[in-house]
Amino acid sequence: MKNYLKKLPRKLRDLIYLARDVAKKEGLHACLVGGFVRDLILGINPSTTLRIDLDLVIEGNAIRFAREYARRLSGRTVCHSRFQSATVIVSNKVKIDIATARRESYPKPGALPQVFAATINEDLKRRDFTINTLALDLTNDNFGNLLDFYNGMVDLGKRKIRILHNQSFIDDPTRILRAVRFEQRLNFRIEPHTLRLLKKAAFDNLLELVSCHRLRDEIILLLKEARPLMYIKRIENIVGFDFFYPGLKLKRGDWYFLRCVDNEIQWFNENFPLIGLSFSWLLYWAAILEPLNIRILGKHLYRFGLRKEEISAILSYRQIRLPLFKRLNKEKLAPSLVFRLLKPLSLETILLVKARYRSVNLSNHIEKFLRYYHGRVPFIDGHILLKLGFKPGPCYKQILNQLLYRQLDDKIKSKEEAIVWLKKRKAKSAKLK
Ligand code: ATP
Repeated sequence: MKNYLKKLPRKLRDLIYLARDVAKKEGLHACLVGGFVRDLILGINPSTTLRIDLDLVIEGNAIRFAREYARRLSGRTVCHSRFQSATVIVSNKVKIDIATARRESYPKPGALPQVFAATINEDLKRRDFTINTLALDLTNDNFGNLLDFYNGMVDLGKRKIRILHNQSFIDDPTRILRAVRFEQRLNFRIEPHTLRLLKKAAFDNLLELVSCHRLRDEIILLLKEARPLMYIKRIENIVGFDFFYPGLKLKRGDWYFLRCVDNEIQWFNENFPLIGLSFSWLLYWAAILEPLNIRILGKHLYRFGLRKEEISAILSYRQIRLPLFKRLNKEKLAPSLVFRLLKPLSLETILLVKARYRSVNLSNHIEKFLRYYHGRVPFIDGHILLKLGFKPGPCYKQILNQLLYRQLDDKIKSKEEAIVWLKKRKAKSAKLK
């Protein structure tokens, strides 16, 4: 494993070597665990440009370790004393989770576990799947050694998702969704015994025992994967959507809409990489719930605790989609009108409407809005209005908007023309007074 480490980008290696040094200084046994180790062995390159997300387990006091580690990195520590764990935040792209090795006992299915300090071996035993039990020892003499207590390497080789014990999905039903996520992402297979227990847990509606907020976080992770349609299909086949909304079934038309949404997201990301879609997962969320009426949908979104702007993006899509379609489904429209109709909406709402109607006219207007009108600003600002003698107040916004609409419609083509127009406007309003 030492060789794997040597191949890592410098920034990442430094973080790992520093963890080794801190463990030595504090006299603690530390290991790297979780997806990072799994992906390292699979040869999936960790991206250091996007995010660094490491998981460490400490036999002993993780919070003490975290404080020293953060100090050396000039980072900040957020402690979670209930679980004796901490997160060291170095920047908004570098975060290290540090946990005290623990055993867990589940008072009832879906509930949060009671935790007890334990050895690293015991800590790995509480994990979801064998492929996630691999650990990399950071303790000096054993530095870089792979710890494989639960046949993780065998299952990585066979490309299998396997739980560690028969009670696993009962203890924590969110593992149902995690199994699908890892299976689809890594192109593995859920092995037959695990699949049988997973289906049984799904059939017994165990996911409904999980708090909506935990469920939401797990669903979001799944929908954030690249091209999540395969994941959704797999969930439909082996779990169903009752956990999402009781009785929810997707018909052919709903699947067609989901594919259209997927295409729109790809189209957007290819054409507008710089604008960036913050909530692409939300579009899939909205599309899965397309069969629900708006009242029920609203209740569902609040129950799952989505944020205000997320709820508003989905609900406004439902409210305005038909009137918006009717107004934009014309071949020729003034750019300023398109701008005024689309500007107040979130990108997510706009893409959902585009996916829903797929009309050429509507698509053209949306594309032009995103390409040409979206980031446009007036030629002049409030300072110039002041210089021209306009009295400051709410009218500034109105005047600048009108100027922008004229620019968009090509009636004003330069700053000079804008000033001429403003002077005329001012003279006219003076006359009226
Ligand atoms: P990703 O590649 O998506 O980040 P990950 O394997 O790192 O996947 P995390 O959700 O970051 O997953 O969790 C880190 C580790 O914690 C996992 O590898 C797994 O060992 C353990 N873990 C997370 N959630 C659970 C769970 N619900 N039950 C048991 N173990 C879990």
